[in-house]
Amino acid sequence: MTTLFDSRRYLSNFDTGRTGHVFTDVLVIGSGAAGSRAALEAARTADVILITKREPDDAATSWAQGGIAAAMGDGDSPEQHRDDTMAVGGGLNEWDVVELTARSGPAEVAQLLDWGAQFDQAGGGLALTREGGHRTDRVLHGHGDSTGRALIQVLLQRVSAEPRIRVFTHCHVIDLLTDESGCVGAVTYHKKFGHQLVWARSTVLAGGGCGRLYRETTNPEVATGDSVAMAYRAGVTLRDMEMIQFHPTALYIAGSSRALISEAVRGEGAHLVDREGRRFMPDYHPDAELAPRDVVSRAIVTTLTTTLVTGVYLDVRHIPKEKFAQRFPYITNCCAEFGIDVGSDLIPVRPAAHYMIGGIRTDLDARTSLARLYACGECASTGLHGANRLGSNSLIEALVFGQLAGANAAREASTQHAPPRPADLGNTTPPSPKTPLDLADIAQSLRSLMWRNVGIERHGDRLQETLEIIEFWGRFVLDKVFNTPDGWEMQNMLTVGRIVAASAGRRAESCGAHYRLDQPPGPERPAPYHLDVCLSDSGMILKPETVGAHPDAKPEGAS
Ligand SMILES: Cc1cc2nc3c(=O)[nH]c(=O)nc-3n(C[C@H](O)[C@H](O)[C@H](O)COP(=O)(O)OP(=O)(O)OC[C@H]3O[C@@H](n4cnc5c(N)ncnc54)[C@H](O)[C@@H]3O)c2cc1C
Repeated sequence: MTTLFDSRRYLSNFDTGRTGHVFTDVLVIGSGAAGSRAALEAARTADVILITKREPDDAATSWAQGGIAAAMGDGDSPEQHRDDTMAVGGGLNEWDVVELTARSGPAEVAQLLDWGAQFDQAGGGLALTREGGHRTDRVLHGHGDSTGRALIQVLLQRVSAEPRIRVFTHCHVIDLLTDESGCVGAVTYHKKFGHQLVWARSTVLAGGGCGRLYRETTNPEVATGDSVAMAYRAGVTLRDMEMIQFHPTALYIAGSSRALISEAVRGEGAHLVDREGRRFMPDYHPDAELAPRDVVSRAIVTTLTTTLVTGVYLDVRHIPKEKFAQRFPYITNCCAEFGIDVGSDLIPVRPAAHYMIGGIRTDLDARTSLARLYACGECASTGLHGANRLGSNSLIEALVFGQLAGANAAREASTQHAPPRPADLGNTTPPSPKTPLDLADIAQSLRSLMWRNVGIERHGDRLQETLEIIEFWGRFVLDKVFNTPDGWEMQNMLTVGRIVAASAGRRAESCGAHYRLDQPPGPERPAPYHLDVCLSDSGMILKPETVGAHPDAKPEGAS
């Protein structure tokens, strides 16, 4: 069935005769690790416009704590990094993508060091730590638990020093511009300049994730899934959108933002305890607190429901306070702001939506299904994470695929001799006669709905109900033409919420981060498959696709 979600090609009205025009070789959307890295690479040979909807460092990248995974330690190897990544992915990892990322990771870290990145040191070399699922010390960190800030500072300094990159801040990308040749740029809005059409020979989407769809989330306000929603409207194929990773330990204090308590804290020996102070993770997994994130998140949910208490806690009291404060200065300060002394108090925690594993389907060159459009970082589904992301693998993925997207977008731009020309494009959606709904109210309701019904534990009936509720809201929100970012973000969040719920309903199994109470894991499991999502003339299509084979896999029929 086609609904407004599937028939609104553009969210804003524009007309190539009247709207302002800007031209570039490569357009990069998003200034986090992926977008900045892509822009720097593209600028080696092309003119670049980098657009970001707030300040350049207002991105999930700045908030990253734990670190960056790369096989740099003595005794470690890309093969081991690859194997650890494959081991937690529930059979949905793309083997060649995992291999490429593990192999390219150390070179990306070396590039960052060359640009002046300051990662913590120990014993005359890089300090490496371990996180759940990594079988060796492999995670680099900067300023203790402020790795993302250390990383983004270096990248943005390089960006601002690069004469071929123009940065447009507080500029909101509303939609991708497309014609018969593929992607030709984007429709943007800036408070001062109004709507503008940015025409580009090639475009890189790096707009981050969609954590703000959930009531409980570690994500910054910018994470409203805009990239995925605009790609969907442009007919680009998405993949595995049901795979949302929930982080087990966000600081849980009513009314405060859900600050992440990094997995590295458990890596350094923290225990998860219930209200009676009993350590419960050994009951659930042999790796206890270092079990995969989905296992820990579900164990917390089970503990909360069986003990009927409101919280579980991280206990770090056995770790010397000075050592803890030195390693985790941000977390120590954050707790202190709420009167929690990590040396003597328990830290209240709960799971929260953390990372969008699925996204815009890309290949080994960061290409999407639409010509001249690339995607990288959290908005992309490269196939690295499979059904469950290993901690610290997303920053390295953002860098490796940011580099590839930038290089390939610049190469593609150089092959087109004619500059992009304002094509005969435009949109006129008439004003809607329907009642306007209060956007802030819808946003709250959507977040609660997603948390309850499309969260850590899901059920087919509830997923169907969720779809019906979102469709209802959509009739009153997708019919409007808004003129401010909060309107477009709300339309995007409803669009992405619907896609996540539909995908979760379609995947009738429990796999990795996707857990269905009505389809619990069992001995009988379908062969691993991806779930492609795309828009067709008849509406949203969800299509199972085969996972890329391991090179040693035997051809079908061979014994
Ligand atoms: C609290 C926290 C801790 C984390 N810790 C780690 C960690 O230790 N290690 C690890 O590997 N990963 C970690 N992650 C995940 C990791 O930080 C992100 O996956 C990664 O930084 C994503 O990078 P990105 O460049 O794809 O997106 P982001 O860094 O989120 O950047 C997205 C950019 O797109 C812009 N944008 C979005 N929509 C629009 C629009 N419509 N118009 C214009 N601009 C737009 C945003 O303004 C922003 O600049 C953490 C995440 C969080 C939230």
